[in-house]
Amino acid sequence: MPHHLSVRIDPNSGFCFGVIYAIQMAEDLLDEQGYLYCLGDIVHNDEEVERLEQRGLRIIGYEQFNELRDEAVLIRAHGEPPSTYQKALENRLTLVDASCPVVLKLQNRIKTSYDKQERIFIYGKHGHAEVRGLLGQTSGEAVVFESFEELLRHELPENITLYSQTTKSTDSFYRIKDELEQRGYQVNANDTICRQVSNRDKDLRRFAAQFDQVVFVSGTKSSNGKVLYQVCKDTNPNTHFISKVDEICANWFYPGQSVGICGATSTPMWQMEQVRDALVAL
Ligand code: SF4
Repeated sequence: MPHHLSVRIDPNSGFCFGVIYAIQMAEDLLDEQGYLYCLGDIVHNDEEVERLEQRGLRIIGYEQFNELRDEAVLIRAHGEPPSTYQKALENRLTLVDASCPVVLKLQNRIKTSYDKQERIFIYGKHGHAEVRGLLGQTSGEAVVFESFEELLRHELPENITLYSQTTKSTDSFYRIKDELEQRGYQVNANDTICRQVSNRDKDLRRFAAQFDQVVFVSGTKSSNGKVLYQVCKDTNPNTHFISKVDEICANWFYPGQSVGICGATSTPMWQMEQVRDALVAL
């Protein structure tokens, strides 16, 4: 029996400006030269990466990057540590720098704090590309932590300079700041969370509350995808996470239900449209 679902895509979901900029840059160069090297996944969305690979994008890791000579290499929105720029100089590589301006600003602020010899703590994910770029501003000396419990395992100085990866949850960041202050630490808290993510938080809550079911579309490697999915799930427990259209399960839905589709800052609109078409056809 057909489901006759009433389906709507969140108009505020889809790529953030940092990702739009990086993909536009890649597409322009692909049109020009037919191929392009990119250091790391251009976006944490396998489907979008696959689409660009079919157009000639060559995703490489550090090992391959170190061996390349005389080529152009795209730096994705997450940014890179200074060592990558140094390596490019040594190996005559032209970097096509699509680092997001929000990340570049954060890198600069961390560098300034480091130069002033502040004790820097970064709320972020270990090993994440953006975090590696941030750590690189401090010659690897800043402390990265993923939770308050983990932070407490470090010996903390009286004065703490706190930063955040751009895609962390604002609520958790301020909770950490408050907890530290309650324990008597002086906290110089730099809320460096990207508004493209934190504003979506509020918009998504409003969006997710309007539907019987919500389908959240995101790559599994996307940090903001995890945060924003949780936001939807907290607002509407009938929220389902998928990374590909064929993960939709028909028995999530009852006939006549309303379904909202939304996603992360790395979810392409074309993928959400694909999901919409599949739901309408159920
Ligand atoms: S989420 Fe924000 S910081 Fe990250 S790429 Fe997008 S605009 Fe830039």
